[in-house]
Amino acid sequence: MAPGSHLVFSWLVAVNVLRDRRERSIVALVGVAPDIDGMGVIIDKISGSTNYYAQYHHVVGHGIFSAILFAAIAALLAKVQKLTVFCLSFFVMHLHILCDIVGSKGPDGYQWPIYYLFPLNQAYGITWPHQWALNAWQNVLFMVLLLFVSGYYAATRKITFLEVFSERLNAEAFKMYARYFAKKHG
Ligand SMILES: [Zn+2]
Repeated sequence: MAPGSHLVFSWLVAVNVLRDRRERSIVALVGVAPDIDGMGVIIDKISGSTNYYAQYHHVVGHGIFSAILFAAIAALLAKVQKLTVFCLSFFVMHLHILCDIVGSKGPDGYQWPIYYLFPLNQAYGITWPHQWALNAWQNVLFMVLLLFVSGYYAATRKITFLEVFSERLNAEAFKMYARYFAKKHG
């Protein structure tokens, strides 16, 4: 699934459990963190001769050991609820992996197996025969659902996943909404 879906999904997992913006943001970012292993695509584009994307994407960052590592870093960065942050981070890493297994088929039909036991076992790759494509309607529908649930938190608690990027951005979104609403009904 696309990084945006992973981010919103992870943020929604954290929003009811974690009290503060800092910890919610950390867990949301951990939900996207596995895709760091796809950054090789930039080097490949620049160099033109490497193939880091194919070599490392879904290999280095999408396994049990990277889940433990990212969860530990997340707990270290958290100021409160450290154990909860560790557990939630470990959980959203696995949600990420699961989402990729079900809905991240490449446009060329390649399934991008998940190397869950990397680096201990570099041959075991997980795929699911019914996997749908990255741009399939299922993923679009899922994103719409995530935004719909986000709308609930926006309405009831005045927070959105925008808080991951900045508190101001989150506040500005509500100001803009209020201004628009005032204009329509004023
Ligand atoms: Zn991924």
